[in-house]
Amino acid sequence: MTVRVRIAPSPTGNLHIGTARTAVFNWLFAHHHGGKFILRIEDTDLERSRPEYTDNILAGLRWLGLNWDEGPFFQSQRLDLYKTAVKKLLDQGLAYRCYTTPEELEALREAQKAKGEAPRYDNRHRNLTPEQEAAFQAEGRSFVIRFKIDDDREIVWNDLVRDKMVWRGSDLGGDMVIARASADGIGQPLYNFVVVVDDIDMQITHVIRGEDHIANTAKQILLYEALGAAAPVFAHSPLILNMDGRKLSKRDGVTSISDFQKLGFTAEALVNYMTLLGWSPPDSTQEIFTLEGAAKEFSFERVNKAGAKFDWAKLDWLNSQYIHNLPVDKLTDLLIPVWQEAGYNLEGRERPWLEQLVGLIGPSLTRLVEAVEMSKLFFSDTVELTEEGSKQLQQEGASAVLSAILAALENQPEFTEPTAQEIIKQVVKQQNVKKGLVMRSLRVALTGDVHGPDLIQSWLLLNHLGLDKARLNQAISS
Ligand code: GLU
Repeated sequence: MTVRVRIAPSPTGNLHIGTARTAVFNWLFAHHHGGKFILRIEDTDLERSRPEYTDNILAGLRWLGLNWDEGPFFQSQRLDLYKTAVKKLLDQGLAYRCYTTPEELEALREAQKAKGEAPRYDNRHRNLTPEQEAAFQAEGRSFVIRFKIDDDREIVWNDLVRDKMVWRGSDLGGDMVIARASADGIGQPLYNFVVVVDDIDMQITHVIRGEDHIANTAKQILLYEALGAAAPVFAHSPLILNMDGRKLSKRDGVTSISDFQKLGFTAEALVNYMTLLGWSPPDSTQEIFTLEGAAKEFSFERVNKAGAKFDWAKLDWLNSQYIHNLPVDKLTDLLIPVWQEAGYNLEGRERPWLEQLVGLIGPSLTRLVEAVEMSKLFFSDTVELTEEGSKQLQQEGASAVLSAILAALENQPEFTEPTAQEIIKQVVKQQNVKKGLVMRSLRVALTGDVHGPDLIQSWLLLNHLGLDKARLNQAISS
């Protein structure tokens, strides 16, 4: 048997971290077994589905490296298949037209509530006679198609994460709606139904999804049976929780993959982190791996039942590991768009210069976007003096030191690291001051602050752009 799994996002929002993590588990499982990973866009909710969300989902999966083998398939293009399946259930007497009005359903719910019962449909139109149906139609009532669910049915499956699961038909809220009405008889089919039709059609062997779908699974197993197909194996992965132990939601701020991207996480670190959200490798000390590496080890035996807490500190740590291990040219490729996004003008800043800058700031980065603030002084014409910086420039001798540096610079045909060191040494001697005064004053003149990246490297970068002399002059006259 070839393993065939799928990710089936609904394009009603950007690619959510929960969906992406489900995609990771599917991808790992498929690759572990040499199987296929299929992408299906569940866009049956016509009101809430948007093409820009589909674009965001596809871009997010690609960015994370979760390449798919088949698809994307769009449910909106497969309506005929679903209608045929609805018709089959109607013909077999496994589904029926229900004419209950929204007002009647509301009254039923109220009555159940008053008795302290859980809301459920009471299957009142399950056995309508043709005459009763005709009468409802004559009244102009519209209908939905409901699938019969027997209360005393026991539904059992062996979940790869949660082991033996047992549900009763009576837990499922009565006969379920599988399609709406339309002028030609069968209208828009609904989620639980189309998923099953598709999973049968696409020969899905394992359905791996979040545990919020467990109740759907119980219903869907009955639909497989009715449609004469064997149910796939199910694996319900634990939810992602925030640090308070509640389900990660919009209220937690960042939840979509594109948000994480904007915050400066690398795809590799994020995907690595997501594999650890609920799964642990056999060697639990191993925390850094590629998708391929994790796929070799992946099994549902090592997926937790308990929710997985989202740990920002851990994600940051992983991200810094990835950034620090990237070769300078790769990191430069990642930072160029970050600088552009920040509005920095890269003109006149050649690739070797950019790489030198990346070599300077790279080791201090945790998130890519931090490069904006860290490298600001290399992209602006002037420096902003911090309070400490301006105090430093008022120190006795500071101005003379800077003038001496400027004078020494005038006589240098070529400016290199040894030249910079030599100038500092000379000025210390000539002005008869401590080296600290020279270094600190020079730093403030060039960068505006008393703290910052390596001074000599910063100076080389600024000198290359011809910015150092202007800044020294500015500092002397401030
Ligand atoms: N479209 C569903 C969702 O986005 C996925 C359903 C499934 O995996 O069966 O939650």
